[in-house]
Amino acid sequence: MIRVYLGLGANLDAPLLQLQQAVNALMQLPQSQLAAVSSFYGSKPMGPQDQPDYVNAVAALDTHLAPEALLDELQRIELEQGRQRKDERWGPRTLDLDILLYGEEILATPRLTVPHYGLHQREFVVYPLLELAPALQIPGIGALAEIALQVPRNGLTILAAPQV
Ligand code: ATP
Ligand code: MG
Ligand code: MG
Repeated sequence: MIRVYLGLGANLDAPLLQLQQAVNALMQLPQSQLAAVSSFYGSKPMGPQDQPDYVNAVAALDTHLAPEALLDELQRIELEQGRQRKDERWGPRTLDLDILLYGEEILATPRLTVPHYGLHQREFVVYPLLELAPALQIPGIGALAEIALQVPRNGLTILAAPQV
């Protein structure tokens, strides 16, 4: 099994419920075991500011799925929860599921950049990840705890606990 960390985000159609529904879907993934889910956090939108605040979390998943097979499953869940891909970058969405880390692997394929390129700059990723794995080393970047010292919280708050 490979330990994978996933980033979850939503800001449309009852985002807290969207995140819980996504957690439920992750529990059903084939060849996988959901290991932990961080608190659900409230965060400010990145990019276009004329959109609702976000709810974000990070999940730890142990899986036998290969990276692109996992991405296929995550995109299926996004679509099942009404994700519509628009031209606007970082626009509002019902659900975003990103692969933050896939074990200690560094991947650069047409479909996947892992570690996720924004991981170490985004407070809504860094702090939930820190909650799950305070001693984590990010391949090619460094200690998560050191990274967190450089990332302002930008109004990040804990909203609720996930049901797992
Ligand atoms: P960002 O990647 O900046 O968080 P986003 O999550 O809104 O933006 P999406 O529209 O969800 O972007 O995904 C666009 C493409 O990103 C996907 O089709 C996927 O192939 C690619 N991608 C590259 N690396 C990853 C990754 N680590 N996790 C998920 N998708 C990735
Ligand atoms: Mg994303
Ligand atoms: Mg995405």
